[in-house]
Amino acid sequence: MNACDTSSLLSAAAYVRCELCPRRCGVNRAAGARGVCGETATMRAARAALHLWEEPPISGTAADDALPAEARDAGSGTIFFSGCPLRCVYCQNAEVSARGAGWPLTVDELAETMLALEAQGALNVNLVTALHFAPSVAEAIKRARARGLTIPIVANTSGYERAELVRELAGTVDVWLTDFKYASPELAARLSHARDYPEAASEALEAMVESLEAAGGRKEDEAGHLTHGIIVRHLMLPGEAADSFAVLDRVAALALGHCDLSLMNQYTPNEACRQAGGALAGGVEPEDYEALIAYAYELGFERVWWQEAGTVSESFVPAFDGTGLPGRRA
Ligand code: SF4
Repeated sequence: MNACDTSSLLSAAAYVRCELCPRRCGVNRAAGARGVCGETATMRAARAALHLWEEPPISGTAADDALPAEARDAGSGTIFFSGCPLRCVYCQNAEVSARGAGWPLTVDELAETMLALEAQGALNVNLVTALHFAPSVAEAIKRARARGLTIPIVANTSGYERAELVRELAGTVDVWLTDFKYASPELAARLSHARDYPEAASEALEAMVESLEAAGGRKEDEAGHLTHGIIVRHLMLPGEAADSFAVLDRVAALALGHCDLSLMNQYTPNEACRQAGGALAGGVEPEDYEALIAYAYELGFERVWWQEAGTVSESFVPAFDGTGLPGRRA
C-alpha cells in the first residue's frame, strides 16, 4: 500500500466514495455521510481492554482457572470499533455495532492504545470489526510499529470483506480471525441483509489464504500463541444446522490445511429475536453442535476449537463504556 496512491483502499481518499466493504455504498464519509456501517470517516471505538475468552491461540491461558492467576497469560488486547457493515438480526453487540456506542479516536490515539495494550501484557492487538475504518487503522498500525509495537495484529471480522482489501492488508494483518456465517444466500439475506455474503466471504477467505501462504504459512510462538494464521469461526444458529454443515464444506474447499476452525455454540437470543419468536428465540440443540464438531474432523480439519456446554454467558459481551480509550482510561 502507498498512502499517496488514492486508488488504494488504504488511502484516506477511500472514505470519499466509500467502497471499503462489499456494500459499496459510495457515500462520502469524509464529508460526514454514513453508509450501511453507520460511521463517518471519524474513527470511533467503544472499548480497549484485555479479553480472556478468545480461542487459546489468541487469548492463551488467560481464562484457564486451573492455573494460578500469576501463571496465566494476560489475554488478547481487544479494541471494539463502532459500527458494522453487516447488520445481523441476532447481533449480541448491537449497542456498539448499530446503536452508536463509541468515542472518537484519532490515528495517533489508536496507535497509543495499541502500545498501551502491549504494555499491559496483551498477546496481540485484536481489532474487532475495524475494517470499515481500514485507512485509519492501517496508518495507526504503521505508526505503532514505528514506535515499537511488536505483538501480532489480529483482524477480527465478520468475514464480509472485499478480497481487494484483504490483499492490501497483507503484511499489516498477521492473523485473520474471521467468521464464516452462512453458505446460503437466502439465509444471509434474511438474517444479515446481505445475499452476497457467501460469495464475498469466500473470496475474502481465498485472499486470506493467499496472503498467509505468501508470508510463509501458519506460525505460532513457543507457547502456542498464533503469530501468523487464520482462524475461521462459525457460530451455529438454532434451526439452521444444515447451513452450518454447508459452511464447513465450503471452508474445507477453500482453506483446509490453511486455517484453524472455531465452532461456536454461544448463540443467545437478543431482545429482538426473543420478541420475534421462532427458532432464533431459542438455542442451539447440543446434538446438532456435537454432530458439527464430528463433521469438521471427518472433513479433515486438524485444529478445531469448540465451546463447552453452558458457555452461553454474558461474559462474552463486555461493557462498551470506553474502557481503555484515551481520556477514558480507568
Ligand atoms: S464501509 Fe460502510 S459506507 Fe463503506 S461501503 Fe461498507 S457499509 Fe458502506
